Amino acid sequence: MLTIGMLGGMSWESSAEYYRLANELVRERLGGLHSARCLLASVDFADVERLQAAGEWEEAGRLLARHAAGLQAGGADLLLLCTNTMHQVADQVQDAVTIPLLHIADVTAAAVRAAGLHRVGLLATAFTMERDFYRDRVAGHGVEVLVPGPQQRALVHHVIYDELCLGIVDDGSRARYREVIDDLVAAGAQGIVLGCTEIELLIGPEDCPVPVFPSTRLHVEAAVERALAAGVPVPGR
Ligand code: GLU
Repeated sequence: MLTIGMLGGMSWESSAEYYRLANELVRERLGGLHSARCLLASVDFADVERLQAAGEWEEAGRLLARHAAGLQAGGADLLLLCTNTMHQVADQVQDAVTIPLLHIADVTAAAVRAAGLHRVGLLATAFTMERDFYRDRVAGHGVEVLVPGPQQRALVHHVIYDELCLGIVDDGSRARYREVIDDLVAAGAQGIVLGCTEIELLIGPEDCPVPVFPSTRLHVEAAVERALAAGVPVPGR
């Protein structure tokens, strides 16, 4: 089994899900007391959020690149950047290491294609919904991305930063997200991508009239798949 390097803390509410899911999936696959081999580097999200708000993406990329190098030095065999938004600097992070970075948009788009769909609605931070890095990457897989209008984007973004990243899961916000989802479906979305790693804490398949694509779960599933493809674990390694 390979060691999964998780670069998280963005926010830790979702990194905890990464850790839990990785261990659950390995136990499901291997049974008994098996659990995931993983390393977690967890940043102070306040530092990252300040750089995002200031538009200092290069500096944020340098910060994450340092942590990625630390994970590789610590023994990680593959790398997960446990946030959609910071895939804005995925190239900078990948350039800092020789282990593969499993890109969250590739994994999510592959799941959409595997479901036979080609047009999805995206719920994510304003950065992910409005910048090119995510949409373009998904478009490379032949999947078109629809985003909500400006007011709904602001709502979705606010709920992520002011509620979910602080561990607040609110029924009223869930109802408002459902309205956004319904509007995206009415606009032609065949599926809904939960393209922010905290949204799975609020929204599930029961909130959606079309298939949902939860980026955290899909990301972890792909990593565990890759980690276990390396073979049945030998004690000690
Ligand atoms: N975890 C979130 C995401 O998947 C948002 C926090 C961040 O800005 O990294 O985009």
